[in-house]
Amino acid sequence: MLPRKPLLAALALTLFGGTAQAADEVVVYSSRIDELIKPVFDAYTAETGVKVKFITDKEAPLMQRIKAEGENGVADLLLTVDAGNLWQAEQMGILQPIKSDIIDQNIPPQYRASSHDWTGLSLRARTIVYSTERVKPAELTTYEALADKHWEGRLCLRTAKKVYNQSLTATLIENHGEAKAEQIVKGWVGNLATDVFSDDNSVIQAIEAGQCDVGVVNTYYYGRLHAQNPKLPVKIFWPNQGDRGVHVNLSGIGLTKHAPHPEAAKQLVEWMTGEKAQKLFADINQEFPANPKVKPSAEVAAWGSFKADSIPVEVAGKRQAEAIRLMDRAGWN
Ligand code: FE
Repeated sequence: MLPRKPLLAALALTLFGGTAQAADEVVVYSSRIDELIKPVFDAYTAETGVKVKFITDKEAPLMQRIKAEGENGVADLLLTVDAGNLWQAEQMGILQPIKSDIIDQNIPPQYRASSHDWTGLSLRARTIVYSTERVKPAELTTYEALADKHWEGRLCLRTAKKVYNQSLTATLIENHGEAKAEQIVKGWVGNLATDVFSDDNSVIQAIEAGQCDVGVVNTYYYGRLHAQNPKLPVKIFWPNQGDRGVHVNLSGIGLTKHAPHPEAAKQLVEWMTGEKAQKLFADINQEFPANPKVKPSAEVAAWGSFKADSIPVEVAGKRQAEAIRLMDRAGWN
């Protein structure tokens, strides 16, 4: 991994790294933690001899850093989670399109930017979880129905500040229009059993502890807690199977505008959408491969198959500002 260097040192690395080696490495700025990405990059290096250097940090500072580095940019690729974040990077003008038939064949269009500035690599559903002790699955139907009186004082949610909930709300607006979406979100807030939580694990743990009966979380958080405790009295429910389907979001990657090694970076992204990398990348974090030809792990498959919302996930970005305002009006903290 590339240590964090001041700009000058990073620049020197680019300038004096030598052009002979230039195509033999790719530099990735990643908001995903080392454990999730290192095995994938190691496999690529083993197969191709191309080194992948990466810096990990939160997405906002990484994006600012790419912007600040400008034409002297060190990063070839930005790897992060949520279409809302990738869309932000696109709006900041720090990405450039990758034109690739391989990526277009491997990843369905709803999981890519229409601008080709980024592509999804793995998928996660943001779905309903429920207490197996206090809820029968037959009581559950849709995200919208969590606003019903039936769930008064029984719902747990994560904070509205998290992009995952902003993206969920953005797709709600896309599906129902603003007025109805606001009514639904107000219903959720009105049904809260407790203050909102700072993370998804706490939502699941609150259901386990009896503080609430239902919640909305990303599937891999459930997967991790379930792996630690197979007797976890909480289960996944797939909502909206009779209409639009489950809200699916992604982790994804984009080529930076001033990438020093654009061709090598493109080849890495193409490889990451292929079968071997997809399997490795998705399985490490209990996610779904974005390439539909690749099967999820047995653990993930055990949650059952479901119909996913076919809405292009970039809607999460396009309507993010609207979603944040709506959540604020609805009192979702
Ligand atoms: Fe997460």
